[in-house]
Amino acid sequence: MMRKIIIVILSVLAVCPMQAAKTAIGQLTLDEKVGQMVQLVTDLFGDNDADGTFHVSKAKADTLFGIYKIGSVLNVPNGYAPTAQQWEKIIGDLQRLSMKHIGIPCLIGLDQNHGSTYTQGGTLFPQNINVGATFNRDIARRCAEATAYETRAVSVPWTFSPTIDLGRDARWPRIYENFGEDCYVNAEMGRQQIRGFQGCQASGASSAAIDQQHIAACLKHYLGYGVPWSGKDRTPAYISPADLREKHFAPFLACIREGAASVMVNSASVNGMPVHANHELLTVWLKEQTGWDGVLITDWADVNNLYTRERVAKDKKDALRIAINAGIDMIMEPYSVDACLLLKELVEEGMIPMSRIDDAVSRILKMKERLGLYSQPIQKFKDYPRFGSEAFAELALEGAVESMVLLKNSPLPTSPLGEEPLLPLTKEKLRVLHASSPQGRSEGVRILVTGPNANQMHCLNGGWSYTWQGHRADEFAQQHNTIYEALCNEYGKANVVLCQGVTYNEQGQWWKENEPDIEAAVNAAKDADVIIACIGENSYTETPGNLTDLTLSVNQRDLVKALSKTGKPIVLVLNEGRPRIISDIVPLATAVVDILLPGNYGGDALALLLSGKRNFSGRLPYTYPSEINSLANYDFKKSEEVQTMEGAYDYNARITQQWPFGYGLSYTSYIYSDLKVDKSHFNHGDTLTVTVDVTNTGHYAGKESVLLYSSDLVASMTPDGRRLRAFEKIELQPSETRTVTFQIPAADLAFVGYDGRWTLEEGEFELTIGTLSTKIYCDETHTWTEPNR
Ligand code: BGC
Repeated sequence: MMRKIIIVILSVLAVCPMQAAKTAIGQLTLDEKVGQMVQLVTDLFGDNDADGTFHVSKAKADTLFGIYKIGSVLNVPNGYAPTAQQWEKIIGDLQRLSMKHIGIPCLIGLDQNHGSTYTQGGTLFPQNINVGATFNRDIARRCAEATAYETRAVSVPWTFSPTIDLGRDARWPRIYENFGEDCYVNAEMGRQQIRGFQGCQASGASSAAIDQQHIAACLKHYLGYGVPWSGKDRTPAYISPADLREKHFAPFLACIREGAASVMVNSASVNGMPVHANHELLTVWLKEQTGWDGVLITDWADVNNLYTRERVAKDKKDALRIAINAGIDMIMEPYSVDACLLLKELVEEGMIPMSRIDDAVSRILKMKERLGLYSQPIQKFKDYPRFGSEAFAELALEGAVESMVLLKNSPLPTSPLGEEPLLPLTKEKLRVLHASSPQGRSEGVRILVTGPNANQMHCLNGGWSYTWQGHRADEFAQQHNTIYEALCNEYGKANVVLCQGVTYNEQGQWWKENEPDIEAAVNAAKDADVIIACIGENSYTETPGNLTDLTLSVNQRDLVKALSKTGKPIVLVLNEGRPRIISDIVPLATAVVDILLPGNYGGDALALLLSGKRNFSGRLPYTYPSEINSLANYDFKKSEEVQTMEGAYDYNARITQQWPFGYGLSYTSYIYSDLKVDKSHFNHGDTLTVTVDVTNTGHYAGKESVLLYSSDLVASMTPDGRRLRAFEKIELQPSETRTVTFQIPAADLAFVGYDGRWTLEEGEFELTIGTLSTKIYCDETHTWTEPNR
């Protein structure tokens, strides 16, 4: 995205006395009203000292607050995370000048997308895709709670999170910012994050106060952002009206009902209409049909995009008219004050009714009040002793451990370990492997750590980490362990060798791979007992993460192919923001672990899991594709597969996948038994109580995510093959059995029909948990008259 700075140079310095606090719309002039609706970047409010440190410039702030009455500021100055002390000074100055000139505190927002993205020394948690993989609601809530605390500690009251788009196209570069491909998982994890960010006492009511330990959340990106037709960021999506309401809207509705304070809009178009211009989606669906009274903000420069890219407006003024009348309350400009002047003209010319402006500004003032900004616009950093604390680090580690997904774990073909799978790589197992090594070396065991992701903090974190693209994480996260460093800590430095073979260009164009030296890695492997190949993606955010090919790079696949020829067992560690196709190298690996983007404690978490000190419990929050022409999601319709004719060649009409949604192995095994539903027949108002027994039949303690799916066997519109309706993560000691109980409102089994209305139809349904399933019968057809159930 172009982040072109238009510096506002104005000669008039506004000099005005301290204003009385203005909390009511009636106290505001039109200039003040339109100014409150505009958001600019922090950089515009200051200058850099000779040493590069940003400070607020009184002259610039006097102009922007004094003349333009700007109501909101976003982003980090200079593009990278300041220290907490720097924030304290910057925000203290901004709030003082905003109160002085307008009598209204400024609303400052940051993308604290997986923890303290934008404050040095704060905690970086696993990305949301990992939170999805934990299937643990508690982790989602607690990570958001800690993020809120660390964000408020530096006087920032607003995060542009959670992201609850459905990551349903593996090619899209923003998959990792979401909780996966399923609408129920996004709704559940999103709700937990709302509670964590805003505080549980604020949940359920969009007017409840958000205290000084919490911040306002922003749901994004409304609506249908996650399925761009081209797979590229910010490009058009085409979504059936039924899917739009039933799947894409569902997490937004759940989070709005949870009391979410704000929503950010999808930069692209859906079904040919840019969402920023879509009155039906912005005003009717989001505000009127739900009664929501929060703040609706554009995404970056998206008013401009209505005329520069989308061509639904002839110029900026026209674009503003369309967007504000469609329901936008705040404009993320983010570099120009033009919008203030143009909005005023539009109101004076009657092109935007004053009632619309008053509605938008009332929402903004209410959010500022809700956050307590009038009484306490800034916080004292020293009052937040848990910032960057050990307790938050433990939570981040726990989240990373629970999110890593074991995808393959086979025994070696001819092995001194017999039938035992390769993982866990206990020290004892390594000794056995070493003793049987054909070289008959005398030194100790040797683990070769290879691949471009082996020693990089920016790969573990991904985007939104200290910088927008996350590419400088190694500089800011030096105290944390890369995979290689964590394995040295776990197995002893003398036993671990690093030879990457393929590397990223860490200087300048960091997204590129260097000329590989595969031979070096192959030579290093000759002396190794086991190879841990850390492959995947570099860090990226948004459009810079677009791909021309979802298949993993040729260099990386060649590295694995060459290493496999040494005959040494390979553990593939996938460190990636989206599932890159690796079908040709999976058979070459004895074990495969997808660590996704686990954050600063990802190296440590992986070492604990590989060594067997902890057990795997993550499950895939998306379908892992095996070929580019089969990018289906788990809920694909049966009609998406076509039977081949007997005797005919296989014309590939089946949906293939590398690993299904919800897949994940562990070091122990579980057996499910005694699946029961309390009703064999039900009506739309009923609640179904479903129980199942889960037993840990292996030798390791473990956590198991129990997933319940439903299938509508016959419907008036081609039904989805199956849908996730409930999940619960439980912990079981060896031989322990627990009964898991789910309460499923029958209304949850309804779908949005061809006429756009929610309906539950008479007929048979199947409920499935693990390998068990049972049938139940709906005795009536019920259609909801309301747009939402
Ligand atoms: C992204 C948003 C983000 C905003 C502010 C945009 O480019 O799409 O997700 O919140 O920038 O940084």
